[in-house]
Amino acid sequence: MTPDVRDRTDRPASLERRPADGCPIPEASWDRALRLIGQHDEIALACHVNPDGDALGSMLAVAFVLRSMGKRVVASFGDRHFAVPRLLGFLPGQEMLVPPEEYPAAPELMIVFDCSTFERVGLLGANAASAREVIVVDHHPSNTGFGTLDLIDANAAATAMLAEQLVHRLGGRLDRDIAICLYAGLVTDTGSFRYSSTTPAVHQMAARLVATGLRTDEIARELWDRSPFGYLKVLAHALERVTLEGGLVWTYVSRVDRAAYGLPYSELEGIIDIVRRADEAEVAVVLKEDDHGDWQVSTRSKGTVDVAAVCAALGGGGHHNAAGYTSYETVEETMAKFRRELRRVS
Ligand code: AMP
Ligand code: MN
Ligand code: MN
Repeated sequence: MTPDVRDRTDRPASLERRPADGCPIPEASWDRALRLIGQHDEIALACHVNPDGDALGSMLAVAFVLRSMGKRVVASFGDRHFAVPRLLGFLPGQEMLVPPEEYPAAPELMIVFDCSTFERVGLLGANAASAREVIVVDHHPSNTGFGTLDLIDANAAATAMLAEQLVHRLGGRLDRDIAICLYAGLVTDTGSFRYSSTTPAVHQMAARLVATGLRTDEIARELWDRSPFGYLKVLAHALERVTLEGGLVWTYVSRVDRAAYGLPYSELEGIIDIVRRADEAEVAVVLKEDDHGDWQVSTRSKGTVDVAAVCAALGGGGHHNAAGYTSYETVEETMAKFRRELRRVS
């Protein structure tokens, strides 16, 4: 297909897929990916640790199409405590997931989704290092290009957009299961079509997915509109100690806070969206202590500050307006370092 490089605005409105739309991934890379997939009967898939809808959804969507092609597929993510977050429990295809210890030690072909760095592959990093070929499918501008083949488009709002292309190029049919997985990725990473990454191509993809008959209302409810009761109590603690310092609003949630209500770590994802509401703040931070006692730091910007740069300096990464990193220090030490980097960047 000839790439259509015209500006979006002078195209007739169409919901048709145009794989080459604004996509900087060279055709030769896609061709090589298809060749590699064609050459292997067993394919190992991975996504980033603490998977979100984009990571797990993209991986499972591609797992479905590979399975329909007759491939043996294993899919996993490299968390020490392997568990699918409750709010992603509705995603189909979870029977294809295996814990890291059952993952092939040295896969011939591994495909990694939504990981900006090798570290994000977590425990499966050792498997990736031993793999003959690693295809990296990602949309982070900060991606370090750690694959033997990189399919990276920093303009894509979600890895799910690249996963859809892969499904299509592999000749897969966009059925409802695949659509649910891809839709989970698309809505997660665009904040339900609210972020600036929400281009016409995002809505066009959403239209293709919704046309398969998926229930957008049910998916939205699963992702954002339900929680265990304990979430409300933990949220109350987090908001009680929320602090505004100039243009920075921040709070934290400890393991002890969660333990009191038996609340799993993965339930904390939405707290940053509440904290970042504060009009007075340009940057929002939530420190979340995981089950190992490490602090996962979620950061958000309203546009003027590049939080990806701040987080990259602290060992993490992400996007201009949404980034994160892991801290192994106390809350006070973590915030002191964060403030220092924030001052340096802004
Ligand atoms: P979160 O606050 O967990 O929703 O993460 C926001 C974004 O930051 C994600 O989409 C990732 O790109 C990035 N991110 C989060 N945690 C890390 C980390 N530990 N290392 C690198 N990037 C991260
Ligand atoms: Mn992600
Ligand atoms: Mn993503």
